[in-house]
Amino acid sequence: MSARIIDGKAIAQHLRETIAADVARIAARHGAQPGLAVVLVGNDPASEVYVGSKARQTVAVGMRSFEHRLPADVPETELLALVEQLNRDDAVDGILVQLPLPAHIDTNRVIEAVDPGKDVDGFHPVNAGRLMIGLPGLVACTPLGSLLLLQSVHADFSGLSAVILGRSNIVGKPVAQLLLQQNATVTIAHSRTRDLPGLCRTADIVVAAVGRPELVRGDWIKPGATVIDVGINRLPPAAGEAKGRLVGDVAFEEAKSVAGAITPVPGGVGPMTIACLLRNTLQAFKARRGID
Ligand code: NDP
Repeated sequence: MSARIIDGKAIAQHLRETIAADVARIAARHGAQPGLAVVLVGNDPASEVYVGSKARQTVAVGMRSFEHRLPADVPETELLALVEQLNRDDAVDGILVQLPLPAHIDTNRVIEAVDPGKDVDGFHPVNAGRLMIGLPGLVACTPLGSLLLLQSVHADFSGLSAVILGRSNIVGKPVAQLLLQQNATVTIAHSRTRDLPGLCRTADIVVAAVGRPELVRGDWIKPGATVIDVGINRLPPAAGEAKGRLVGDVAFEEAKSVAGAITPVPGGVGPMTIACLLRNTLQAFKARRGID
């Protein structure tokens, strides 16, 4: 049996179309337009690509995009002052400070400086806390995207067991909270977990977010399980290749022949992240302005 491939590109495109329609409806009715500000510090090539792609997709759904670029050696106080200015700017509904930040800047201090109502990354302790206790708030984009992909397969998570590989604040922990809210029985695994393959084999749902190329093998997967591969890893280039291949945290070809449904890399979770950022920006806009 070969698994159903969960098409993140198509699901993300559908989500963007829904958002664009809602933005157009709001513009016609209220004459207002959501705005997303992205702050990029330094010129890390991967971050440049993400920021460019975010700006294009923001404009494509009818929102305003504001880009702020600061040099890699910008003092922390200057970055915090910009965040404060964006907090006060009424045209800005969402603020995203692209991570990672240079080592001289305290990332947590910057995250905590963002107004929780504009925290479209969902990283602020207020939003992380609201997720933890089941209150509405802004949820981190990659975990939210992973949940939407899972919901394209499962209408109900009651009685299903989920193993989350990875316990980071930006992926593993929020994914676990979201699945717990959906009534799955959740186990979070990490680098100190004993017998990871055995644990995975018990799971109806496996979410891999470890950043280790193809760590999860086909024989770790219970037949018919749903596998969400969050990992994005670039392998060293093979002979004759200019760039190495992108692979996930799951050995896709092996897992595909055992799983019931699986996300590819690329084309799975990746496209959902920016689509969910736009969804969060629209949510923040509506909440700030009391628009439905
Ligand atoms: P982190 O490095 O912050 O966390 C990795 C987690 O995996 C840690 O909890 C770590 O355990 C655990 N881990 C590492 N090695 C092993 C191992 N051998 N066995 C079991 N657990 C292990 O990574 P992120 O959560 O930020 O990202 C994870 C992956 O997701 C990366 O590949 C990243 O590129 C990708 N990603 C993709 C996004 C997208 O848009 N699709 C967005 C964000 C991330 P411990 O805590 O014990 O160290």
